[in-house]
Amino acid sequence: MSVTAPSHGEPLIRGDNSMRYRPFGKTGLQVSALSFGCMRFSEDQDLNTALVSKAIDCGVNYFETTRYYINGSCQHKTAPGLAGKAAGVIVSGKEGINPNQTAYLFLREIERQLDILKLTHFKFFQVGWFSWAMMPHLLKRGGVLDGIREAVDRGLVQHIGFTGHDSPENFIKCIETGLFDSITVPYNMINRSYEPTIKRAGELGVGVVAMCPVAGGVLAWDSDKLKDAVGMDMPQAAMALRFVLANPDVSTACSGMNTMEQLDRNIATARDFDPAAGGFETMCEGLDRLRAELGDTFCTACRYCMPCPQGIDIPRHMQAHRNWRCFGLDAWAREELKRIPAEQSLDNCDRCGACEEKCPGRLGVREMLEELAGLRNGGKK
Ligand code: SF4
Ligand code: SF4
Repeated sequence: MSVTAPSHGEPLIRGDNSMRYRPFGKTGLQVSALSFGCMRFSEDQDLNTALVSKAIDCGVNYFETTRYYINGSCQHKTAPGLAGKAAGVIVSGKEGINPNQTAYLFLREIERQLDILKLTHFKFFQVGWFSWAMMPHLLKRGGVLDGIREAVDRGLVQHIGFTGHDSPENFIKCIETGLFDSITVPYNMINRSYEPTIKRAGELGVGVVAMCPVAGGVLAWDSDKLKDAVGMDMPQAAMALRFVLANPDVSTACSGMNTMEQLDRNIATARDFDPAAGGFETMCEGLDRLRAELGDTFCTACRYCMPCPQGIDIPRHMQAHRNWRCFGLDAWAREELKRIPAEQSLDNCDRCGACEEKCPGRLGVREMLEELAGLRNGGKK
């Protein structure tokens, strides 16, 4: 679907001294390599405003928002920094889709989010929490697509993307419909599950917004294993961002930032990284080798093992195990185990084995929980 409205045709801002730009799929837009995820703002509104304002001054031209982040305050916290600077900047909004969603409700939500952000239109609007199973609710008469079409006709929206947590295969089916200009998915060194989807998006000219390039802060923790695997020696968060930007099919790496240090570091990384230097295949081979060391004991976070009769959050523990054993994030894993509430902790395991019977990968969950207990108690194994 081409949804480019004839109005609002101003070019996006550029700051070539401080930022690099990439084609945003087939939209004709040049998006900044670093984009700003507005879901981690703090209570310090002066800082939030300064962050958005400085990011724009440095050439960041994509800001990801929705009314629902940060207990409903995300767009309120974003708007002051955009004041007087929003022309030439993509501010994306997002509304969810569900069986009860209608064209009318979707359109009203677009208007509501524009009102909060004090914008006249969205250059991008995302269909949020989308999945292949939601396609009928998008396409039905009087459904979400009808609402989007009216928004486009009225000049409230120019381009449409989607985001969600369906399987990579289903998301490939979604982008192959040709209905969307972009896809937003999590992607980083330790979560490459959407890599095939990103590749297909690149082939189809669909823009890719890579969320969580630093894995929600996990990759800010040092790991010699990861550095060796990708052949880089630099602060880990910078390395993580470089990996995402090295993927030629990624349009922009969307990082949730709430400190000036993070913003400055990410801008410097995005500015200094020359995608022409290549190296993506070599990095992937190094990461594949790490994963191969674990063999079949790689939790895919499918959650089929849940619920645990003892209340244990099994996937969270398995993620900690994976990040420790596969990627060498020992210190992060120890801290993560301390953060898990007592009622969801591995200490409650009675070794019933129910999880292992339900796990498609037949992971040895009981043994892995014991290994984690050893790590938490000071050992490495
Ligand atoms: S073996 Fe432990 S983790 Fe698995 S289902 Fe039983 S109590 Fe839960
Ligand atoms: S079923 Fe297995 S692979 Fe899926 S989340 Fe549970 S442990 Fe991980």
